[in-house]
Amino acid sequence: MGSIQKKPHALCFPAPAQGHINPMLKVAKILHSKGFHITFVNTEFNHQRLVKYQGSDALHGLPSFCFETIPDGLPPPQNPDETQVFPILWKSMDETCLGPFKSLLTKLNASSSPVTCIVADLFMGFTLDAAKELDIPEIVLWTSGVGALMCVHEQNNLLERGLVPREANEHLDTRIDCVPTMSGMRLKHLPSFVRKTSPGDEYMLEGLCLQAERAKRASAIMFNTFYELESDLLDALSSVFPPCYGVGPFKLLEKESDESVEFIKSNLWKEENTCLKWLESKPKSSVIYVNFGSTTVMSHQYILEFCWGLAKSNCPFLWIIRPDLVDGKSAVLPPEFLEEISSRGLLANWCPQEQVLNHPSIGGFLTHSGWNSTIESISSGVPMICWPFFADQLTNCWSCCNKWEIGMELDSDVKREEVSKLVIELMNGDKGKEMRKNAIDLKKKAEKACTSPSGSSIVNLGKVIDHLLQGSP
Ligand code: UDP
Repeated sequence: MGSIQKKPHALCFPAPAQGHINPMLKVAKILHSKGFHITFVNTEFNHQRLVKYQGSDALHGLPSFCFETIPDGLPPPQNPDETQVFPILWKSMDETCLGPFKSLLTKLNASSSPVTCIVADLFMGFTLDAAKELDIPEIVLWTSGVGALMCVHEQNNLLERGLVPREANEHLDTRIDCVPTMSGMRLKHLPSFVRKTSPGDEYMLEGLCLQAERAKRASAIMFNTFYELESDLLDALSSVFPPCYGVGPFKLLEKESDESVEFIKSNLWKEENTCLKWLESKPKSSVIYVNFGSTTVMSHQYILEFCWGLAKSNCPFLWIIRPDLVDGKSAVLPPEFLEEISSRGLLANWCPQEQVLNHPSIGGFLTHSGWNSTIESISSGVPMICWPFFADQLTNCWSCCNKWEIGMELDSDVKREEVSKLVIELMNGDKGKEMRKNAIDLKKKAEKACTSPSGSSIVNLGKVIDHLLQGSP
């Protein structure tokens, strides 16, 4: 008689930031729906925040979906709600986490369900050493757009041509035609760490290049994108890296997954659901949604430009202002602004973004162009105004505005007149209409990739699972 087949056990390890935890949790849920036992690893610091905002039940929910923690190697911060500085956090983890990670694996492997494969963020490259030691497969997850990884890969080429490094405001409009498949991009659209505009960028770039090199030892790299959106880039990178699979938008594949894990969430801030009720009272496609993600910190002057730009546009808006969005102090908005917008604007600290973007009242998204926000907007067929702040956001913005024509770029030195002009154009102008049509077309393509049996993301998910199962007995 054959032995009883044990469930494969995937250990999922995101980089410790909101924009990395969210897509990894979706991957974990998708794998769970395909019969994998899941162990999801957070840093101790983030685990505390998740418990605080989701409740401990949400993190100890199921025998087949478990959570574990690992120390990030940094001293405990004074403020438990602090947004940790990513390059410092990442450096610390790269230097200190391999030991604790191996101990965790040893503990799990002493249980009745040893770990059979690893899915880790590309930033957590040290995990590949542990996978090698245990001789189990590892898939690496890149949580940004494929273009940003291409720019990292091309940085020597850019260096040799004298295109980088550059001062923050130097020759921003210089055309760059040497990055494969991204011809026509401007210098300002390179990820800021590739341009090396600030002192911290050097470490960030060196570290990323090292991780990208390490990723070549993975079985495959998976992306929260779909083949039809970035086929040129996925094909080009697959000739340099292990196979590169677009398996997204994860949100659309997750929709197909099991309900038993629906209650598990990954917000590092308290979600305010009242905005969904408010949206109910608004006409179709009438509201502009404004959100700059989990890491952007802007000056008080810029907040004022957005305030008065939105006010001047006369358009209903939902604006999410994270408690730490403004440099140095909490955002105090002018009372005259609050009075003026009271009948058509709603402000909140943090919202269920995917539900908001899917709400029929939303007609546009003013975004910082983080990759998750970008792909979530595409999945919902919502066109964008892009105000990229740093890192890969600049490259994501270029793709939206130039490749896919679903976005309009706002100047980095933002002015209220331009905010109101672009909001009016996006919500009511001809260009806005065209972009909405393009965004809806992409949404349909994304749905097809994730729901039709021969859809590219469904097929690629099968390939990823085949790689992961190679470690199962
Ligand atoms: N998000 C959310 N509610 C908010 C703001 C953000 O749920 O009010 C989620 C959003 O849906 C996305 C993630 O947080 O999944 C932000 O990731 P992104 O890559 O867009 O930007 P980052 O925060 O990494 O800059």
